[in-house]
Amino acid sequence: MRFIVTAGPTREHLDPVRFLSNPSTGRMGFAVARAARAAGHDVTLIAGPVALRTPPGVRRVDVVSARDMLAAVLAEIGGASDRQRVAPPLAVLVMTAAVADWRPARCAKTKLKKGEMSDTLKLVRNPDILKTINRSIRRATTGVPPVAPIRIGFAAETGVPDAEAARKCREKGLDLVVGNDVTRPDSGFGTSTNRVTLVTPDGRTQRLPLMSKLAVARRIVAFAERIASNG
Ligand code: C5P
Repeated sequence: MRFIVTAGPTREHLDPVRFLSNPSTGRMGFAVARAARAAGHDVTLIAGPVALRTPPGVRRVDVVSARDMLAAVLAEIGGASDRQRVAPPLAVLVMTAAVADWRPARCAKTKLKKGEMSDTLKLVRNPDILKTINRSIRRATTGVPPVAPIRIGFAAETGVPDAEAARKCREKGLDLVVGNDVTRPDSGFGTSTNRVTLVTPDGRTQRLPLMSKLAVARRIVAFAERIASNG
């Protein structure tokens, strides 16, 4: 199968040297890319700014902002559905990236001088990548019905993910949400382990014990393989 994995944070610049971002290091997404490649899949990793080495055999596309990431995902999904008309490697999109929800309303071309900056920053909403894909899949109606990619999202929660994750799953058209509590020291941003809850659109939840991010990644790859083989 063809896996498209997003990883890391996005940066939303207000000038060339200042930006809004978050503490994501990309480790979970890189682990998913590594696990999918090790299972024999074709993998494209769309990475925000991170300091990690590309896993062997994985194609990597680097992006900076949420809008760059959206464009890269759409280009990959488009490529995937073209390919599906010829041969059937089903696409799986795993959105582990911590996409910034807002960006500064304006980005200056040159560094802002302190005197030019006000004490308040006007923000605008970024597009939601998963929701945009959901809409574009529903709109695509040319000849051969497009095969929707299997979609897996993440939910970073400050608390145990539950009903909120199931709602997110339905709202974003996902086959699976992987929820993690980012307030725990052994789980979430920058750790090598994760304690996650798997939530499916029917509201079923499975809480997994503390495991390495690579072990969580293998479970996610196996889940996608199971969905693909059940049609
Ligand atoms: O709604 P929330 O941001 O908690 O959802 C998280 C999921 O949605 C993650 O899989 C993340 O990659 C994705 N996301 C997105 N576009 C955004 C923000 C989050 O696709 N603008």
